[in-house]
Amino acid sequence: MAKLVMEQLTKTYDNKVTAVENFNLTVEDEEFIVFVGPSGCGKSTTLRMIAGLEDISEGAFSIDGKKMNNVEPKDRDIAMVFQNYALYPHMTVYENMAFSLKLKKMAKEEIKERVRNAAEILGLMDYLNRKPKALSGGQRQRVALGRAIVRDAKLFLMDEPLSNLDSKLRVQMRTEISKLHQRLKTTTIYVTHDQTEAMTMATRIVIMKDGVIQQVGTPKEVYDQP
Ligand code: ADP
Ligand code: ADP
Repeated sequence: MAKLVMEQLTKTYDNKVTAVENFNLTVEDEEFIVFVGPSGCGKSTTLRMIAGLEDISEGAFSIDGKKMNNVEPKDRDIAMVFQNYALYPHMTVYENMAFSLKLKKMAKEEIKERVRNAAEILGLMDYLNRKPKALSGGQRQRVALGRAIVRDAKLFLMDEPLSNLDSKLRVQMRTEISKLHQRLKTTTIYVTHDQTEAMTMATRIVIMKDGVIQQVGTPKEVYDQP
């Protein structure tokens, strides 16, 4: 479970570009929040501040009441899924999913159980010994999701995870990710520039423009306006 509070989050890069300004948002446990907005509006920067991959210039970010500003990424209990999958090409599907758990020195039996559990949920049981290059695009994306699931994290961050897939697969995977969320109920923040994805997946949508929030609401509130 995780409740997030972002208060006046601001990011000014070294080149003086203010990418995000006074970002205020409370995310309730089990929500699926989608950030939408044009390229350059600050979606990734916000996600990266939450993940701890980018310093917060001003403001505060907390998870379940604990201030996270200065907590290392590895101690934030967050799992990320990227657009380019970022799979390790020399490792099998099993090893890709097991890798972060091995780094944590988790017991082998526990790793095995978590990887098998994730593989079953994602339909990857028959592919555990394959390398990424021998997988389809959808299967690779499932492995990337599997790597996030095995960590049993408090929060999923997904940065345009489907934008490298063709449109048919995008529709299919978006349904799969929604089902996954219904099953695991992990609080999720999902970045996309695709309005249809936002409408079909989100509990609430955050529309950003030029580094600020323009609107926050349910898909109905945001898109069904008279
Ligand atoms: P989005 O994810 O919505 O496309 P970004 O968060 O990537 O937007 O970028 C927001 C703004 O910050 C843009 O003007 C971008 O050029 C700028 N920006 C992003 N990353 C950096 C960086 N590392 N250094 C300087 N400016 C950056
Ligand atoms: P090592 O750390 O000794 O190199 P591995 O990382 O290959 O071992 O495997 C760790 C554990 O996971 C072992 O118990 C192994 O049997 C199991 N394992 C590895 N690959 C698979 C797989 N494809 N399917 C099921 N279990 C596997």
